[in-house]
Amino acid sequence: MNVLVINCGSSSLKFQLIDAESEKLIAKGLCERIAIPGGRMVYTSASGEKKITEKEMGDHREAIRLVLEALTDPETGVIDSLSGIDAVGHRIVHGGEHFAGSTLITEEVKRAIRECCELAPLHNPANLIGIEACEALMPGVPMVGVFDTAFHQTMPEEAYLYGIPYHYYRDYKIRRYGFHGTSHAYVSGRAAALLGRPIEELKLIVCHLGNGASVSAVKYGKCVDTSMGLTPLEGLVMGTRSGDIDPAVMEFIAHKEGKGVDEIMDILNRESGVYGLSDGFSSDFRDLEEAYGKGEEAAVRTLKAFCHRVLKYIGAYAAQMGGVDAVCFTAGVGENSPLVRSMICSSLAWLGIVLDDGANHVRGQEIVISKQGEGAKALVIPTNEELAIARETYAIVQKGE
Ligand code: ADP
Repeated sequence: MNVLVINCGSSSLKFQLIDAESEKLIAKGLCERIAIPGGRMVYTSASGEKKITEKEMGDHREAIRLVLEALTDPETGVIDSLSGIDAVGHRIVHGGEHFAGSTLITEEVKRAIRECCELAPLHNPANLIGIEACEALMPGVPMVGVFDTAFHQTMPEEAYLYGIPYHYYRDYKIRRYGFHGTSHAYVSGRAAALLGRPIEELKLIVCHLGNGASVSAVKYGKCVDTSMGLTPLEGLVMGTRSGDIDPAVMEFIAHKEGKGVDEIMDILNRESGVYGLSDGFSSDFRDLEEAYGKGEEAAVRTLKAFCHRVLKYIGAYAAQMGGVDAVCFTAGVGENSPLVRSMICSSLAWLGIVLDDGANHVRGQEIVISKQGEGAKALVIPTNEELAIARETYAIVQKGE
């Protein structure tokens, strides 16, 4: 069964065509600058051949049409016709409290996704447009929604409630939801496989460290806490997002600089994080690491602050779960930065984690990076959200038949 995985952002669309039985990637690509001048599609076939098409795309429907044309193109295509796509899996950012798992997309499901637009105004509308564009272009093909928030729905009340008047939860569903759930679920499953133990026995901490970053506590296969909240702004210091701050900081800046809420939210979302901390030097960890290597002060304080926050969450989650069997690193930084991993793990000897320097420098594979011992282990697990979405889609479509 060929599954087309679609990940719609506000002005971009990522896709992968995956053979769900063999789990082989057939083709993948990215449409950028949708509805913005300078649109282009980068299409990569399974053999790694890249084709760039410069084309304006008025909306997501045009982008998906371009993707389908590329997939069925007589020269560069990988399927003869659209009947070569058996199902579509959509990444949906916010499922609110409606979805604790993936689901076949129906009119009712779309209504619930629409209800969550208020909670994720930048993402859910784009996700819906992607669904509707696929429905129009591939009528009758089953579609599955896979939610970033679903894995975290097992969090207990004490973990997801904010310390604010309860009626805000009752009336508006203001609570912590968490994101990157597909990645946290995938990585914890792979961690159990790598450790050769059933997930139902394990206490895992998953550090998804990318441009957006979050940590999860996964106890016996279920998420019991995670660092992101109502929106993906809470928690770790990220590429350009602040993560946790005293909310009074907003009031302080507002008064000092005469700014409104929207402007301040923009600062916290786009001008903060490691970018802001490094005084606008870079949000890219490769640049920061290079500068850290040269001892540049801005990069040193920034990486230290980033790692300090990750460490704080690891400590908190170890306490909440009453121990930890493995700390897992994943996503752009977690998978590729031996420096960040070693800065964090150098403070985890109390858990029994001592890094094996050789293993910490191996790239691109699932690996235990801590020395053998009695205590917890540190692991690197490359995430694969698209494959996880394809698996979910396959399982749900199979079940529905
Ligand atoms: P997102 O999906 O949230 O955009 P990614 O998981 O792709 O983010 O991670 C992007 C981050 O990973 C960037 O900050 C980038 O600098 C970092 N990264 C990628 N490769 C490396 C590397 N070799 N060393 C350090 N950081 C890296």
